[in-house]
Amino acid sequence: MKKVVIVGAGLGGLSAGIKLAASGFSVTIVDKNNHTGGKMMPVQLGEYSFDFGPNTITMPDVFKRVFEEVGENPEEYLQFEQITDHTKNWYMDGTSFLQTTNIEKMESILSSIDRYSFKNYHRYLSETKHLYQLSEKHFFSRTFSSVKDYLSPSLATALMRVRPLESMDHFHRRFFKDERVLMAFNRYATYIGSSPYSCPATFSLIGYLEMVDGVYYTKGGNTSIASSFTELFKKVGGNLLLDTEVTSLIIDHKLVRGVKLAGGEKLEADLVILNGDLLTSYSHLLAETDRPHMDNRKIASFEPSISAFVMMAGVNKTFKEFVHHQVYFTSDYRKEFQQIFIDKKLPDDPTIYICNSSATDPNRTKGSNLFILVNAPANPNMSHQEIVEYKGKIYSKLKQFGIDISPHLEEEMVVTPNYIKTQFNAYKGALYGISSHRKKDAFLRPFNRDPAIKNLFFTGGTTHPGGGSPMVTLSGMNTAELILKNLF
Ligand SMILES: Cc1cc2nc3c(=O)[nH]c(=O)nc-3n(C[C@H](O)[C@H](O)[C@H](O)COP(=O)(O)OP(=O)(O)OC[C@H]3O[C@@H](n4cnc5c(N)ncnc54)[C@H](O)[C@@H]3O)c2cc1C
Repeated sequence: MKKVVIVGAGLGGLSAGIKLAASGFSVTIVDKNNHTGGKMMPVQLGEYSFDFGPNTITMPDVFKRVFEEVGENPEEYLQFEQITDHTKNWYMDGTSFLQTTNIEKMESILSSIDRYSFKNYHRYLSETKHLYQLSEKHFFSRTFSSVKDYLSPSLATALMRVRPLESMDHFHRRFFKDERVLMAFNRYATYIGSSPYSCPATFSLIGYLEMVDGVYYTKGGNTSIASSFTELFKKVGGNLLLDTEVTSLIIDHKLVRGVKLAGGEKLEADLVILNGDLLTSYSHLLAETDRPHMDNRKIASFEPSISAFVMMAGVNKTFKEFVHHQVYFTSDYRKEFQQIFIDKKLPDDPTIYICNSSATDPNRTKGSNLFILVNAPANPNMSHQEIVEYKGKIYSKLKQFGIDISPHLEEEMVVTPNYIKTQFNAYKGALYGISSHRKKDAFLRPFNRDPAIKNLFFTGGTTHPGGGSPMVTLSGMNTAELILKNLF
């Protein structure tokens, strides 16, 4: 039986592990943390339950496929609930508008704030559907192992049709005029950790996913996706080693022979899959001489995606104005991205996202389980004083909107970019690996197979097709498929 070691129990590692274990490989997944799911991490603070990481779930069929491909019924493991009226957007002038997948209702909302957006909404949906369908057909369900894979004429044609040369903001201005509506749709760039003023319009496809395909919540918490993957992985015969860090790969004659663990132990392997952030994994686990195509200079040349400053607040009150997702926008969205990516500082007037999953699943937690997230540059080291001050800034901005959290706060945990970097070995604390600003990084992400070490593979947010929970799950299944089809 061929032995596979997967470094990292993120969604990419788990989905690859399930498929390979069910296909007869002896698979061991090793993770440095004491939970599976990587950035999809359950957090319990007293009687309050939170999902750290993915709070917005799209493409539920991708998660279901992990079960279906190994002959299991996903309904026995997971229950996805669609949230129709999913996101309420608030602005500094006190106005707000709701985003809903009910198209007639959405049109009626748009008609009351921006006739131009109202008139163009159908066209927007059909253009973003087209972007989604092209990307799904040509990019999502395949792996890239070498430059040769990018040279097929059909792929080049598809690439040119997904608007790679136009920015997301420019694309959205074809359909929407009101700056409030533009900000709400431009926010989709942050789902891939990028700026709407720099990333390609291709990623406007996220709008189709949210506004048509739907926004979902997983009953019991989104982290049940990771726990159900873990249950399935064990059921198909996989081995799990938690609380165990891999410190290096054992390389011999341009092949990986296994991994070394922090305690000094070795695990032999016929092939290894790295699921941790690729830029960190390469530099931590492989000597520079074993990765000529990815030397330290090249690693330093990548721009990391956005990071986050997160507060998980357990509040003994139900806010009547809250839906499942709400966003309190800055007055100057362009400046916010300028501060994050160019000045590399925390925005001084941040856009605040709040997930309140207790609105959909009140039995899961006491009171309100507020997951409050602000976009942050990758890698700012924050002192205790800076953390306290930034937290105060966020709470006082929310107070301006009539949301007074402090008097009702019973539990609180603050997560900084530095925590994300250390906890998940995420390159500079980036949430989604590399940003998608340069065309090369948006479309030509690092390969799923090492060009020099033929039995070393990659899955997860840094690699193809990119970050976000459905994409990394696809990447795990795609990498497993690559191994099954071509190698053994
Ligand atoms: C705050 C935040 C909000 C997010 N919001 C959303 C959202 O709303 N919707 C969405 O779809 N996505 C969201 N994401 C992104 C999503 O969580 C990630 O894209 C996805 O979970 C990454 O999965 P992955 O397979 O790449 O692995 P990761 O989750 O990065 O897991 C990799 C694992 O590898 C382990 N590891 C690394 N190196 C080693 C080593 N040497 N030895 C042992 N173990 C190692 C790490 O500990 C980690 O557990 C968010 C992420 C964060 C952090």
